[in-house]
Amino acid sequence: MDQLNISDQMIPYEERRSIRYRRITLSILEDRLRISAPKNISTKQLQKLLTAKQEWILKHWLANQATREPFVRYIEGAHFLYRGNIIKLEIKKHSSQRIRVCLEDQALKVYIPLDLPDKDCSPNIRAALISWYKAQAHKVLKDKLDKHANRMQVTFQTVRLKEQKTRWGSCSSKRNINLNWRIIMAPDEAIDYVIIHELAHLTHLNHSEQFWLRVAAFMPEYANWKKWFKDHGQELKL
Ligand SMILES: [Zn+2]
Repeated sequence: MDQLNISDQMIPYEERRSIRYRRITLSILEDRLRISAPKNISTKQLQKLLTAKQEWILKHWLANQATREPFVRYIEGAHFLYRGNIIKLEIKKHSSQRIRVCLEDQALKVYIPLDLPDKDCSPNIRAALISWYKAQAHKVLKDKLDKHANRMQVTFQTVRLKEQKTRWGSCSSKRNINLNWRIIMAPDEAIDYVIIHELAHLTHLNHSEQFWLRVAAFMPEYANWKKWFKDHGQELKL
């Protein structure tokens, strides 16, 4: 099968041509990308579309792979999301017994002990990445929360980072805000939306029309980002 190379990720693909197809459709299957195209589309036109859709293909391919093979992702060259950017994993060995993670030059570098057995690498790297993401979330989300609370002239009691499957944030009647640390993988505007949404609950503890007006007052394009979570929420995982 032919393969597409997107940011060094090899994606097997099959091309189907038929006069029945009215337009080009891309579908992510278990082990390949399927490209269905009308018979009369030129290779050049097809290439142009694939280039334009590269990011979409890569994101959906990785998300799909992630649901199947949890540990295959924690290897050299694997891709991860951080604040909406796709970053590559680089694994390096060092003499310390601790695993260290840092983000440098658009790469997530993980330093592992020289003598770490191969079978322990993936689970250990995954655990180290989760702590790294949580630590970043702590800083970034807290800063954004303070900034937006200031803009919106509201005060909250505490903020806690949580891990929830489907909720991105919540706000209690005691003015405590919970945020899902995984939103740190989403683009900044998506993170801002979750934060503005929760802060708006400090004024309206419901999803009434007034509540949404308040969200819109501080983020007029909020509906795009609300939808973004519907479309991409399942990609925000480790
Ligand atoms: Zn809400």
